[in-house]
Amino acid sequence: MNLSRHVYYCLKCGACRVSYQIFEPLCPSGIRFGFDSYYAIGRMEIAKAIFEKRLKPSVKTALRFFTCTSCGVCDSDCSAAMGLRPLQVIEEVKRVLVEEGVVPSKVRDFLENVQRYGNPYGEGRHKRRAWAEGLGVREYRRGDELLYYVGCVASHDPRGRAIARAMASTLSKAGASFGVLSDESCCGGEVLRLGEVELFKLLAEENSRKFEQLGVARVVTTCPHGYYTMRSEYPKLGANVEVSHHTQLLRELVDGGRLRFSREVRAVVAYHDPCFLGRRGGEYEAPRHVLSNIPGVRLVELERSRERSLCCGGGGGNFYTGMLGGEGSSSRLRVREAYEAGADVLATACPMCAIMLEDALKDEGLEGRLRVRDVVEIVAEAMGP
Ligand code: SF4
Ligand code: SF4
Repeated sequence: MNLSRHVYYCLKCGACRVSYQIFEPLCPSGIRFGFDSYYAIGRMEIAKAIFEKRLKPSVKTALRFFTCTSCGVCDSDCSAAMGLRPLQVIEEVKRVLVEEGVVPSKVRDFLENVQRYGNPYGEGRHKRRAWAEGLGVREYRRGDELLYYVGCVASHDPRGRAIARAMASTLSKAGASFGVLSDESCCGGEVLRLGEVELFKLLAEENSRKFEQLGVARVVTTCPHGYYTMRSEYPKLGANVEVSHHTQLLRELVDGGRLRFSREVRAVVAYHDPCFLGRRGGEYEAPRHVLSNIPGVRLVELERSRERSLCCGGGGGNFYTGMLGGEGSSSRLRVREAYEAGADVLATACPMCAIMLEDALKDEGLEGRLRVRDVVEIVAEAMGP
């Protein structure tokens, strides 16, 4: 794609500051910092100066790009109105900055950990399966219905591990034959979003090779970033495996009568659309369908939802680097929005969203008044012991 057209045709209309479809701000980095240089409008101007070699980027410049979460809302608004793709420009600048070695130290640490350990946490590979201790989860065998690709957050983070455990127990109760990889590595999604294209290719090729060797029929992920990356980015490198997000599989299991709910979960539930499942992945219905089938759940919609959902601020590696945290962050606005909508539970379908929102809930003093849960955790509760 010729990106110069995009930087030169930007009209500075400001639709990437305040979405013209709901007249609300949606860009998490712009919301957090307020300056144009943290919105697509300003990033397009900086990109122009970098492409024209009028600006030699510094780490301060790089911060303006690496705080973009790749949530895609500017891209969808701008492409509908102007036919431009500001996010593609931003991601190209990140690629150039990585190539030139101009990256914030937290981004460098993230990339080094993934390269060295196969995960951004810098933990030994043997810790990848700690979440499954005592659950009897086995390795994938040829002929199994599903390969559960767990992902970095659900493997290494204590809160994420609870989601992986709920997923494994739900699959077992549904009678699904499934297994995991014995030596799973990062899917490379956030690596790609941070512009490290060569490392991404290595990870994608390694994972695709494992799927092929094992004859994997279908991959299911609890992470929308893994789902999007394997479904939309791996095929560009020649991979060919069916990939589903866990909410899509849960919808099938509900409709096929394979999930039996024996308990009521009495709660008003607001659903937060993760960007890489909703806006980027195009799946809005599956999680809502599952939630609305759980006895006792009353589903309410947030004002910023579906195509106009507000990013939690964790994408594009920001979950790991924490560069969008603090007062006024989009995750804090989001939990407040859910609480004010009368929700008892803010449900999501992404371990990064769950952790970002749970931390925000504590910062906002909403503990005990609002809970953050993954859809599969609510499903597991409704299925009973
Ligand atoms: S990037 Fe698109 S939406 Fe933003 S100011 Fe430019 S033309 Fe408008
Ligand atoms: S992709 Fe999201 S975070 Fe990045 S500039 Fe666009 S709206 Fe802002």
